[in-house]
Amino acid sequence: MEPINVNQSISKNADFIEQVGIESGQPVHKCYQCGKCTAGCPVAFAMDYPPNQVIRMVQLGLKEELLRCNSIWLCATCSTCTTRCPCNIEIAHVMEVLRVMAGRSGTTPPGKAKNVELFYDSFLNTVEKYGRMFEVGTILQYNLKSKKPFNNADLGLPMFQKGKLKLGPSKVKNANEVARIFAEARRMEGGGK
Ligand code: SF4
Ligand code: SF4
Repeated sequence: MEPINVNQSISKNADFIEQVGIESGQPVHKCYQCGKCTAGCPVAFAMDYPPNQVIRMVQLGLKEELLRCNSIWLCATCSTCTTRCPCNIEIAHVMEVLRVMAGRSGTTPPGKAKNVELFYDSFLNTVEKYGRMFEVGTILQYNLKSKKPFNNADLGLPMFQKGKLKLGPSKVKNANEVARIFAEARRMEGGGK
């Protein structure tokens, strides 16, 4: 990362810092960089900025760097960091808000992190349609979107044989209510996808 002028960055992106705090509901300003979150994070090794640095970057208003980093897409929302954090900061919420902000700003996830976004989309599409997870539908959508139609195809047959996958979807009762929640979320987000 290039050297930064901390004061300039904070004053230029004050709105961003405030918005992350409001949307996540997390007291990001309390972080004092003890590093316990990163020490326990199972994915930190693959992130371009580990969790403690992500929180510090929010404090410093490094918006562009955050919205295009892979850390926000690799976070597995396991909450290990939160259980270790002396300030009770829900870092997974912060990561989630940053993902939403990246989507709103049209920032494409870097490298392989793009596949995480495609998986989220595929998963949520099936939940919106059936009111619950439909594994085969999610896998097919994901494979087509990621242009690898036969990805993991060799695993399909053994999973069918063991009853782990069903060919057809099962809908929950009142699946239309779930679809309505999706529509309302889109309306609140300003009519986005
Ligand atoms: S919630 Fe995300 S950042 Fe926190 S420990 Fe899990 S993977 Fe790491
Ligand atoms: S554990 Fe909490 S206080 Fe410590 S670095 Fe991580 S977010 Fe900051």
